[in-house]
Amino acid sequence: MSDRVIIGLEVHAQITSLKTKLFCSCSSDYRGRKPNTNVCPTCLGLPGSLPVLNRAALEKAIALALALNCRISEKLIFVRKHYFYPDLPKNYQISQYDRYGLIPFAVSGSIAIDMGNYSKVVRIRRINIEEDTGRIVYPGGSPLGSTYSLVDYNRAGIALLEIVTEPDFSNSREARVFLEKLGSILEHLDITDTSLEGALRADANISVAGGPRVEIKNIGSPRELEKALNYEIARQLNILKSGGTLERETRHWIKEKGITVPSRAKELEGDYRYFPDPDLPPISIPPDLIESIKRRLPELPDLRARRLAEEYGIGSYMASVLVLNKRLCDHFENTVRLCGNPKLVSSILVNEFLRWVDELDLDLGEGLRRLNSKRLCRIVDYLEKGLISVKLLKEYVRRVIVENTDPEKIVESGMTTLSSAEDIEKIVEEVFKEYPKAVEDARRDPKAVNFLVGQVMKKTRGRADPKLTNAIILRRLQEHESG
Ligand SMILES: [Zn+2]
Repeated sequence: MSDRVIIGLEVHAQITSLKTKLFCSCSSDYRGRKPNTNVCPTCLGLPGSLPVLNRAALEKAIALALALNCRISEKLIFVRKHYFYPDLPKNYQISQYDRYGLIPFAVSGSIAIDMGNYSKVVRIRRINIEEDTGRIVYPGGSPLGSTYSLVDYNRAGIALLEIVTEPDFSNSREARVFLEKLGSILEHLDITDTSLEGALRADANISVAGGPRVEIKNIGSPRELEKALNYEIARQLNILKSGGTLERETRHWIKEKGITVPSRAKELEGDYRYFPDPDLPPISIPPDLIESIKRRLPELPDLRARRLAEEYGIGSYMASVLVLNKRLCDHFENTVRLCGNPKLVSSILVNEFLRWVDELDLDLGEGLRRLNSKRLCRIVDYLEKGLISVKLLKEYVRRVIVENTDPEKIVESGMTTLSSAEDIEKIVEEVFKEYPKAVEDARRDPKAVNFLVGQVMKKTRGRADPKLTNAIILRRLQEHESG
């Protein structure tokens, strides 16, 4: 049995930079509002109301399609996708479709991902413009812990871009890096603020060892995507290895518990009864509009990575990791502007910062606030002045992130490299007095010197400069001999 894993993604990105919803003038800023106050007859689907397309949403969609190298359709044809669910006030969602003579907004794009030791081009099957649904609120926090649910339509009608990939991922890590990169592209295009809860969501289709396709819904971030896929791969392999069979199903990712659970039965395509929306006649997408948006495209992650690698000499993989998040990348450039040393700053951000943010399950923005440019530059300065070693630097970064504290406070607590010969001299003297036998041994056997160095390290909690300590001990051993 081959354990081959095949994963495809369906991503929903809210166009958070818009002022209003996709088809009405309700605010696109629905978060934190009293339930069911950010609504109107159009987004509630009341009789007699008519949708009007938000032009800025179309322009943002064109920008994304261009950034992902997609082919944009000549016409934008809105369809009604019917299904009955409480979060959908009209009982249909306005979207696009790719059959019965209907067409998606854009098709056949790609995103390249750099995995360090290899790179990969992930194919984009299509991009659609559609409206978001309302939100079902579980008073107990999750469907499992609630005896009833409530519905809030403030989100209904928010502009969404649906991005569907071909099943091109062969592990969870690739899927995560892809979602990070897509998020970064959306950030660079000023389409989606991915730090907002629910602004970037993914559903994953996964098939393990030739088994049926299982869909996982409700994944809220790249980190959660990797976790959900790892859980699902292990779950499916366990069932197969114990002789069980898998069925085609839809499951929900429960973030709080780190598990997937079975969901409502998967609707069949035919159930949706797609047909063109009679309220929204097809719109021709003018080629000169596409051209003008193309001319105004900002620097995107791939180009930015190339520039960073050249301008700062930080290596192409390091640069490709930095550009996976616009805020991280901006942070890098701001910090280097303040204190230089791009190699060290990029290495701290990629190798230390990202690891701790993941380990602590910290929001990236919160992590960046803790390790802000001022604090980061202070740590770099300490290293350059020889106040701390590389080993201590890692500890400083960890403590600044975990404890949200200033590096100055850590210095005050005495955690610095002892590099003054005088200071080390004193400690060596103490050790020589405490271990006369070891001093005798060290005169005859150079290997026994290590014991003395070790005692100095122990007394200084690893802060003594090892080279200097070694030199001082050797010198004193010779003096004793001659003296
Ligand atoms: Zn509305």
